[in-house]
Amino acid sequence: MNRYLTLKDVDVSGLRVLVRSDLNVPIEEGHVGDDFRIRSALPTLERLVDSRAAVTVCSHLGRPKGPDPAFSLEPVAKRMDELTERTVSFNTPGDITVMENTRFLDGETANDRETADRFADDFDLFVQDAFGSVHRAHASTVGVAEIVKSVAGPLLDDELKALGRFLADTDHPYTVVLGGAKVSDKLGVIDNLLPKVDRMLIGGGMCFTFLAAQGHEVGDSLVEESMLDTVKDLVHETKTFLPSDVVIGDSFTADSKHQVKPVSEIPEGWMGLDIGPDTAGQFAGLIRESASVFWNGPMGVFEWEPYRSGTEAVARAMGECEGFTAVGGGDSAAALRLLGLETTVSHLSTGGGAGLELLEGKILPGVAVLERWTQ
Ligand code: ADP
Ligand code: MG
Repeated sequence: MNRYLTLKDVDVSGLRVLVRSDLNVPIEEGHVGDDFRIRSALPTLERLVDSRAAVTVCSHLGRPKGPDPAFSLEPVAKRMDELTERTVSFNTPGDITVMENTRFLDGETANDRETADRFADDFDLFVQDAFGSVHRAHASTVGVAEIVKSVAGPLLDDELKALGRFLADTDHPYTVVLGGAKVSDKLGVIDNLLPKVDRMLIGGGMCFTFLAAQGHEVGDSLVEESMLDTVKDLVHETKTFLPSDVVIGDSFTADSKHQVKPVSEIPEGWMGLDIGPDTAGQFAGLIRESASVFWNGPMGVFEWEPYRSGTEAVARAMGECEGFTAVGGGDSAAALRLLGLETTVSHLSTGGGAGLELLEGKILPGVAVLERWTQ
């Protein structure tokens, strides 16, 4: 299915290799906050060093409009050096050389040729390992790969293989669970996957647009008026499962008053902030008896304890399911980590936007460009 080369196809010994990783980590007062992405990126870099390649790594960090010290990769290089036995240096040669933020260069986001040349000039091989960036056609994702021989790194390859299992040759029963804040963010995924799935479970803020389209009074719950018509067609789909009960709060705060109600009895002035226990039980059962489950978007405002149960029930059921289970989306991954359940799923996807675009059936430009290199 994937027609690109990987590191297994090339002998990197003696080569100057540029790796595009996802080192877009939070920087707090000049220091790296959560270093999960650095730890994830390291094995690829270490493996290249051990194969006697000269390794340089590049990444974007944040959205600077040009050079800006607040978005420098220097703290990233420092943390990386602490995490590995190999020597890591910033902008000077080491076992692993960390380049400055790709977005400090003018032509990065415009993917101009001169900027791509600057990435390509000193290298014999380009390794794309930043799944979270391959939906963007930038100089460090597409431009450089048009010039230098390019392969997919192991992290990228894993992501494409795992998420690819929800696009073709999927094991059935196949269930997709969607939540999160907005229907409009997920409509592309719904459209592309609905014909393929056996059931689509809808929770989170987005379920209230569906419930409103069915004619329910949903009080002050999140409703996207502009989506009502689109969603009307989807609620008749027998594969679509909507909540029968919800946890409602009297304000959008952590310490709001809360109660469980059937979806037909949401009082005025209240808002739905989680799926209810009956729904959570039903969703969990359907997940457990599936052969493939993809989940994106929390079932409620899991950040606040009173509205966490629905997300927790779904997360636990994912862990108990014996089929292939994957979770995508930044907040969904954060919820899994908060619950300590991140290792219970088959695959935890790291690329929010790229993952959604892949499941929408879109071509990822940073992957398509790799397919030009066949030897
Ligand atoms: P992901 O990052 O996993 O793709 P989203 O960004 O789409 O997920 O949505 C996550 C957010 O949705 C969370 O911050 C959560 O608080 C919010 N959310 C979930 N359910 C509701 C709800 N019923 N009302 C308002 N916000 C909700
Ligand atoms: Mg999010």
